[in-house]
Amino acid sequence: MKKKLIFIAMCMVVTQFITHLWAADVPAKKGKAQVKSLTKIDKSTKLAYEGGTQPLTTTPVVGKPSRKYSPIAEPAAEPLGPEEIRVTILGSGDPFVKRGQASASVMMEVGNEQRDIFFFDLGSGAVANFDGLQLPVTSTTKVFLTHLHSDHMGDMPTFLGSLAKAGRRDPVEVWGPAGETKELGTLAFAQHLETAMAWDYLSLSGHMGQSGARFTATEVPYDKPATVYERNGVRISSFPVIHIMNGAVGYRLDYKGSSVVFTGDTQPSKTTIEACKGGVDLLIHETFPSAPVFAKKAGVPEKQAELVVNYAHTSPAMAGKVFKKAGARMSVMWHLAVDHDIVGPAYQEMRSQYDGPVTIAQDLTVFNITRDAVVVRQAITDPVAWPVIGKSGVSGAPLAKPVKAPDWWAGALITD
Ligand SMILES: [Zn+2]
Ligand SMILES: [Zn+2]
Repeated sequence: MKKKLIFIAMCMVVTQFITHLWAADVPAKKGKAQVKSLTKIDKSTKLAYEGGTQPLTTTPVVGKPSRKYSPIAEPAAEPLGPEEIRVTILGSGDPFVKRGQASASVMMEVGNEQRDIFFFDLGSGAVANFDGLQLPVTSTTKVFLTHLHSDHMGDMPTFLGSLAKAGRRDPVEVWGPAGETKELGTLAFAQHLETAMAWDYLSLSGHMGQSGARFTATEVPYDKPATVYERNGVRISSFPVIHIMNGAVGYRLDYKGSSVVFTGDTQPSKTTIEACKGGVDLLIHETFPSAPVFAKKAGVPEKQAELVVNYAHTSPAMAGKVFKKAGARMSVMWHLAVDHDIVGPAYQEMRSQYDGPVTIAQDLTVFNITRDAVVVRQAITDPVAWPVIGKSGVSGAPLAKPVKAPDWWAGALITD
């Protein structure tokens, strides 16, 4: 009993200490803008997947928005201004897939006439999060892959097959890095994926969505920046990043004077700073827990954790250094396991280097970006939503007639 009481007392001290660290975020420096405290992280804080509705951010609103935003985001029900970009984190997690966090994926919508939607990476679970938002499946035609790690492309078959069955009729365009050899590039990945999905595709014969299961791929350079997309007022450029070997890139989206930079997986890199040149509204930068924290959580020796964190990814402290150099209006720690053991220490380590506006991405954290403001909220979704269908470019009859039923079915089918 005594031991139990001592344990409870220790827990309370630790909890208060963590809470204190977070509350201590309000900067004391005179002359600097007051930064609001983050949502406190302690045992009583509800994270998004625990039912929490607050974004983990130092600054829910940067600037002065010209319109009112409801406290909780409902993307399908809200207007998007003609000059606005809305970024929704479809997957905030890492390679270790969890129900609480889908793997890597970021969705960017723009307020142009076409209401274009762009998907950057599609890790496992991303499509389920998209479906819950109840945005039109007919708009799911543009995917930009940062690299071909499974946690960044694991939902590609679902995106292609499932959303075609849900009502997409237009084919999908995929952009992704070239590789040092042909086999390592996005074109080879796409060709193999097409072959692997042959049964799924043929089974859609006679279905309106068969044309929506088709896709084309375009490679972007892995060794130099490039403009890779320019349509309807949107420009997307790619830039090389440092991640294990050649074949990983980040992307920058520009629309009506606002911009977002997304790194994908990378070590801290000057190429990211270059991509942020000229000013950027939102920088979404990958962040892994520091090596000691990672080692403890993953149950691996610290040396091994150092290899993962410091030679393939970015530690929280280094993310802080990048944020400082990049100077984005809002910086985002993303690809970080968001649980009570990690969030507090990761935030503090980043804060030792940077004191500007920062958000820790959870699944369905939403950023509304205009020239006036960056607004950060969490979205609510319908976990059992059926697909919403918008406009298609492809119309008319399905591509092919249904496949002929095998002869043996006639004798095997139960009809009464
Ligand atoms: Zn990776
Ligand atoms: Zn990754």
